[in-house]
Amino acid sequence: MVEGGLIDQVEVTDARWVAPASVKAFEKKLVGRRVLRLGRRGKYFVAELDDGSALVMHLRMTGNLLYIPEGDPVPEAHLRGQIWLASGGSLAFTDPRRFGTAELISTPDALQDYLGARLGPEPFDEFFDGPYLYTRTHGRKTPIKAVLLDQRVVAGVGNIYADEALFRARVAPQRRAARVTRAQAELLTETVQDALNAGIDAKGASIDDFRDAYGVKGSFQDQFLVHRREGLPCPECDTPVKKIRCAGRGTYYCPACQKN
Ligand SMILES: [Zn+2]
Repeated sequence: MVEGGLIDQVEVTDARWVAPASVKAFEKKLVGRRVLRLGRRGKYFVAELDDGSALVMHLRMTGNLLYIPEGDPVPEAHLRGQIWLASGGSLAFTDPRRFGTAELISTPDALQDYLGARLGPEPFDEFFDGPYLYTRTHGRKTPIKAVLLDQRVVAGVGNIYADEALFRARVAPQRRAARVTRAQAELLTETVQDALNAGIDAKGASIDDFRDAYGVKGSFQDQFLVHRREGLPCPECDTPVKKIRCAGRGTYYCPACQKN
């Protein structure tokens, strides 16, 4: 649908989306390019283009990339930019809080360097294992939840999945990273994958973490174990789920099951 598509029009509706590049330069560089691949790496959408350059869109907190079939209405609220394909459909980037960015990277090598400096391994990479996570928690005073949300440690684990993975591992989100044992680090790499798999099976949660490039609303939020379940019984022990602020995010956990 998008891959193989020729970009025939680009409109940036919010200059901040592409800053520091100018709107004009950004639009000019994209028009006439063909999209070879569109993929997601962590909180980035990466469109590789036929001249070796790449369009890298960082979603930040509230950004979203939607595919709009020809003739379908475009969500005008919070629209930051739109890219039309010669085939008729378009990609729309929406972002209520306007922290999301779009950037053109000129070569494949530069793209590797750019992502390598910002992203840790993907959760399903073989490198994301217990010993690796243990080295990234060792000696750190921040809560373990902040480590899981750090894109340089592991790419693409959002707020929902961090809560769900910590619950599955029975580790309290506010536990100091330095106090996480080797066994817990090992378990957490597995439960991060379990939580993500549960989300993928349900086509992603439509709340704040994930919506796929085609705008499909998921049903994962109906299956959360603790996230957004404040006051409801823990699925393991019936203790009411508690909501706290941790790593700067609304955080849900079971005070009985999850060890601090
Ligand atoms: Zn419990």
